[in-house]
Amino acid sequence: MANETYPYQDPAQVSELLSSHKRFTSGGRGPWHAVSDSDWQDWRWQLKNRINNLDQLESVVPDLSDEEIQGAELANTKLSLGITPYFSNLIHREDPLCPIRRQVVPRVEETVSSAWDMSDPCGEDEHSPVPGLVHRYPDRVLFLVTDRCAAYCRYCTRSRLVSNASGYGFQPDYQEQLDYIRKHPEVRDVLFSGGDPLLLSDSKLEGLLKALRDIPHVEFIRIGSRIPIFLPQRITSDLCEMLKQFHPLFMSVHANHPRELTTEVKEALGRLADAGIPLGNQSVLLRGVNDSVPVMKALIHKLLMCRVRPYYLYQCDLISGSAHLRTSVRKGLEIMRGLRGHTTGYAVPQYVIDAPGGGGKVPINPEYILSHNNERVVIRNFEGRVFEYPEVADEPEDASSMKVCSSVHGEA
Ligand SMILES: *Cc1c(COP(=O)(O)O)cnc(C)c1O
Repeated sequence: MANETYPYQDPAQVSELLSSHKRFTSGGRGPWHAVSDSDWQDWRWQLKNRINNLDQLESVVPDLSDEEIQGAELANTKLSLGITPYFSNLIHREDPLCPIRRQVVPRVEETVSSAWDMSDPCGEDEHSPVPGLVHRYPDRVLFLVTDRCAAYCRYCTRSRLVSNASGYGFQPDYQEQLDYIRKHPEVRDVLFSGGDPLLLSDSKLEGLLKALRDIPHVEFIRIGSRIPIFLPQRITSDLCEMLKQFHPLFMSVHANHPRELTTEVKEALGRLADAGIPLGNQSVLLRGVNDSVPVMKALIHKLLMCRVRPYYLYQCDLISGSAHLRTSVRKGLEIMRGLRGHTTGYAVPQYVIDAPGGGGKVPINPEYILSHNNERVVIRNFEGRVFEYPEVADEPEDASSMKVCSSVHGEA
């Protein structure tokens, strides 16, 4: 059941670990036990006290490896080191292979560029009509509002600009971005991202949402954010009250491992859901983090318990320095085969590859169609059993049914 990169060999240990993944527990206080409750619950305190250099990291995670020490030393020239105190407590200090640690503690391997690596793997800069706006699909745009996050994912697809460690100098002009949307009536869906949009103050965010809602052709608004996971303290009731004025407003969160879903996160997600915000989750398939069926199942089941619908599972983008975190596509397909039909359909995300160079998201599915011709389609179910469904010709049938419809309407 555990795959080759899953570190625990003893079946009893694996089984205990997986059942612990299913429980909701608090992130706890760890080294911050002396901090007052009001400070700890204050998202600005959490941000001010972020771990962002090697000394601070060593005080929270002793026994850093040489690879991690070098990674932390180099991080601030590439993608900043940043971990909220709350999230750092989820790191199992005695476990060098901890899946939480792998996501946020830099490693020297980030400086290794392999053959296919790119600094802008999804070709976003080429699809930006104005800075900070990506218009790749016909009817929707990605609206980048900041280059900062509460904590930095080491495999960030936007690390060229996020955290500004490499000097990209991202300075969006909101008026220019809004003007573009005003002038493009085909844009009916706007996705706020960054960086993390929920790092903006309530009033700044409200101003942006109001400006968008004043554009009549904008029907649907989404916020992409990992703050409910990295900094659940940010999801205040004031924020939720503000957001609920702008429905239909959806939110896509980003959890990769079941242990990220703590009691604090469950409550924060509950506040968003109670504000009527439909929640989806976007996971990235990461080596040694979630690249096995049991871990992925524990994650998606816990997401449903938090009223979050798993939306996408991304094959890791070819971002420079992420090769050590990437898996094969074969592994992704194997996981999808282990989910579809074996568990609740609502829990199963769509596996996608964001096509390198700017092709957009392409759905990747295990083969359920074995053959398809004019007579029949031969299909395979989740257990591997084979079935046939008869095929019919489309053109003449369609044409005649259209005629029937129009004559019915004509008589009425
Ligand atoms: C992912 C993405 C979207 C949204 O795609 P959906 O499939 O609608 O979730 C829009 N624009 C860009 C550039 C994206 O990368």
